[in-house]
Amino acid sequence: MRYDVAIVGGGVVGCALAYALTRYQLNTLLIEKACDVGFGTSKANSGVIHGGHHSRAGTLRGDLEWAGNRQWLLLCRDLGIGFRQVGELMLALSDADVPVLEEYKRQGDARGVPGLTLWDRQQVRDDTPSITEDMVAALYAPTTAVINPYEACFALFDHARANGLRVALDHAVTGIAAVQDSWVVQTQGGDFEADFVLNAAGLYADEVAAMAGVGTFDIHPRKGEELLLDKRLEGIVRHIIFPCPTPISKGILVIPTLDGTIMIGPSAQEVTAKDEVTTTMEGGSEVFAGAQRLVPGIQMRDCIAEFAGLRAIADGDDFIIGTTVAHGFVNVAGIQSPGLTAAPAIAERVCAILRDEGLALRPKTTFVSLPAVRARFAGLTTEEQARLSAQDARYSHIICRCEGISEREIIDAIRAGGNTLDGIKFRTRAGMGRCQGAFCAWRCMALLAQERQTPLHTLTKRGGGSWLVCARPEEPS
Ligand SMILES: Cc1cc2nc3c(=O)[nH]c(=O)nc-3n(C[C@H](O)[C@H](O)[C@H](O)COP(=O)(O)OP(=O)(O)OC[C@H]3O[C@@H](n4cnc5c(N)ncnc54)[C@H](O)[C@@H]3O)c2cc1C
Repeated sequence: MRYDVAIVGGGVVGCALAYALTRYQLNTLLIEKACDVGFGTSKANSGVIHGGHHSRAGTLRGDLEWAGNRQWLLLCRDLGIGFRQVGELMLALSDADVPVLEEYKRQGDARGVPGLTLWDRQQVRDDTPSITEDMVAALYAPTTAVINPYEACFALFDHARANGLRVALDHAVTGIAAVQDSWVVQTQGGDFEADFVLNAAGLYADEVAAMAGVGTFDIHPRKGEELLLDKRLEGIVRHIIFPCPTPISKGILVIPTLDGTIMIGPSAQEVTAKDEVTTTMEGGSEVFAGAQRLVPGIQMRDCIAEFAGLRAIADGDDFIIGTTVAHGFVNVAGIQSPGLTAAPAIAERVCAILRDEGLALRPKTTFVSLPAVRARFAGLTTEEQARLSAQDARYSHIICRCEGISEREIIDAIRAGGNTLDGIKFRTRAGMGRCQGAFCAWRCMALLAQERQTPLHTLTKRGGGSWLVCARPEEPS
């Protein structure tokens, strides 16, 4: 088949593009080298939908942050994605920081971001007593929200698939060749022909652009380490707490996540390798020190997990979105922070570019809406839980004790496409609680093996060679 559009990369940007394009009468293909969507930077970030006042005016990052914020509000409602508008407090820890807060307020006001208010010390202390006594003032932004980024990727992707998206997972793009009036995208699993190629390959977008002969920029990875803290601390902050930002980073934040944990981070460290996602003692200590500066009650012993993600920083420090000298090849590159926030607005902008390039965007007369993401069993009332358990006993068999995830929810996640341990974890939260999967990992593996009718030793944590157990000598390999 010759596709109208091939999207390279299934991060949040690729998924948002797929969702937007499948609203039109187009043949759209998404090509992703990992075994699932959202397994790159899009799963390893802070999950903050920025308030609209953070990025500088006159940049793509600035223009698309606020537009994206507004769009997530609607998308999350339409697709049933969890969304909590927790608001943010950007703290001034000295009088010298106050003009910076005023500058951010001016920036947001000019863009039409509502509700930005400067709070004095007493207002902040009354609102959030856990904040450091060293704080002198804060900028309050009610528009800032939190989501689960992987849940968002899956919801966008599942809707796009239900509306005709063709998908090639586990297909790394290895070459891109222009042929007459179209492109041939070569992958490890075969070739695909498309009129337009959208380069949404995150950290590797420079290499994918070079494959098409338009390698005019470099992507530099900037690592951010984050720590997740136990639910014991739930409520220690009501809003996301920001320090005064620096020119290279928004700083280390204290984030009340959608699921009731507290996340702290990220750090910002230039690295050379695009797969350097190790967590380090130094990084963890820096994150703790940064968080304790804002909220001193946070303790090292509350840490239940650490992870690192890599921002894709392009030359020029802005997003690179647009056509190239190679007709039909469009870059959606350098999508560093606030890329999660901006993703739906980026997709809208790319649709406009494709239209200008001559692609007919005829809306479909029908668009399939999937049922809203199921409410978590653990969050239902006792009556609702009893009703569901009476319908299917697998609801009353709890697999993940920390998060209260039932067998039925794990099975649903596997049937929805979770084909690895991480695929199940990110779809259900099984393994994300205090014990980090020590209790439930093998139970999830047993269910996956049973559903896929495959031996345990063929299962992986996140695809590729990330096998979980060895084959028994007597088992065929
Ligand atoms: C620590 C950290 C915290 C952050 N916090 C926030 C935040 O709170 N709010 C916010 O708005 N933004 C945040 N960001 C930024 C945000 O996470 C990114 O902007 C966003 O996830 C980028 O999405 P993407 O789809 O461009 O990239 P990715 O998610 O990396 O997706 C690119 C995809 O392309 C695939 N790919 C690469 N090469 C190939 C190939 N050759 N063939 C096929 N597929 C390929 C990859 O496997 C990957 O899945 C943060 C970033 C970091 C690192």
